[in-house]
Amino acid sequence: MTFVDSHCHLDSKQFDSDREEVIQRAIASGVEKMVAIGTGDGPPDLEAGLRLADRYPAFYATVGVHPHDAAKASEETFAQLGELLKHPKVIAIGEIGLDYRYDFSPRDVQKNVFIEQMRIARDAGKPIVIHTREAWDDTIALLRSHWKGTGIMHCFSGGPEEARQALDLGFYVSFGGIVTFPKATQIQEAARITPHDRILIETDAPYLAPVPKRGKRNEPAYVVETARKLAELRGEPLEDIAATTSANFARLALH
Ligand SMILES: [Zn+2]
Ligand SMILES: [Zn+2]
Repeated sequence: MTFVDSHCHLDSKQFDSDREEVIQRAIASGVEKMVAIGTGDGPPDLEAGLRLADRYPAFYATVGVHPHDAAKASEETFAQLGELLKHPKVIAIGEIGLDYRYDFSPRDVQKNVFIEQMRIARDAGKPIVIHTREAWDDTIALLRSHWKGTGIMHCFSGGPEEARQALDLGFYVSFGGIVTFPKATQIQEAARITPHDRILIETDAPYLAPVPKRGKRNEPAYVVETARKLAELRGEPLEDIAATTSANFARLALH
């Protein structure tokens, strides 16, 4: 049985002392592919994910400007993103979107940088990885007006209604550690209704570790716990969750 962690931040300083062991633990747990999200600390460095993908066969990467860092983006950033998307291990632009919880960048700047990155992804024929926090309606509205392809709704934290909106737009819904939290009943309901051919799993490591590791630093090996929860919620064998989420990832990202 093998798994794909479709979203992790292994470039984080939190892994500086034991990154190699963390990667080996993931592989030993059956996590045979991991996506190193490349947003890092923001522009001008756009290669936080690529450094891992260049070094380890198990890693793929994204490139992109996180909404937190939108104010750091320039014309040069956008030109570089277009170039980096040609790298064979870069599977998507992400994570991009809107974050109104922290408002680290002004909202109009977040929107413009999100729109510009959708244009770059479309020109490159690549999917997008969406981060949206307390900004659901604006995110969906911008996707409806500016995006025609597919992508990943990362760390999905809505309910069945939001899941349906994402699915209608052609997106895959990626569940992370929070789906294992006992009070996350709306997210769990969304996990029950998402079609098997549109579901993905992720850790978002080092953040939001699943039960029973909740509160600890998260790492890709723990994606198995999220898969286990999905199996329980959906009444499907763990083997099926492993196989379908891996096949979904391959269909979306590897071609
Ligand atoms: Zn995110
Ligand atoms: Zn992330």
